[in-house]
Amino acid sequence: MRIAGLMKNDMIDGEGFCVSLWMQGCPHHCKGCQNPETWDFNGGTEIGFIPLWNEIDNALNANGVKRNFSILGGEPLCPENILNTNAVGLYVKNNYPDRKIFLWTGYTIEEILEIGEPCNYCLAWADVIIDGRYIEEQRDITLKLRGSKNQRIIKIDHYDNGDNILMDGGNVIYVKRFN
Ligand code: SF4
Repeated sequence: MRIAGLMKNDMIDGEGFCVSLWMQGCPHHCKGCQNPETWDFNGGTEIGFIPLWNEIDNALNANGVKRNFSILGGEPLCPENILNTNAVGLYVKNNYPDRKIFLWTGYTIEEILEIGEPCNYCLAWADVIIDGRYIEEQRDITLKLRGSKNQRIIKIDHYDNGDNILMDGGNVIYVKRFN
């Protein structure tokens, strides 16, 4: 799979300390995108699953600090990346169920549901989705986790246990896990 980068101590993208993975390749080409180097599907670095699992395993608990996990892009959910993204998300969710997984995508949640499988399978492993393309005219640097006002922070309710407290302000909507 091709990735744009792996950051082992990210305090910006997510909640607390995170291990952050940037997927390579994005079809959206938003005006004003901060990471245009991630657009090229042939760019970035090639890495196999086993080396990536090792990197993630080591980083998630480095120095005795439990970290959450973030997947960004590029576009993690486009057809070229979705199977690899699902593999990574499921690996982390299955092996580290006590960690939160944050996912940034240029698709809206409505688009994800309309596209269906395998795109919507991200709802099985992501805990929080930040959705929507970056719209330069709606840029707002005060927003938590988002670059423009159209984007939303979406908590995925896997357990329907009422534990819906997350993040401050902004658009927070709740989606139950599908079966
Ligand atoms: S979806 Fe994200 S990575 Fe892709 S062009 Fe838009 S801002 Fe850039």
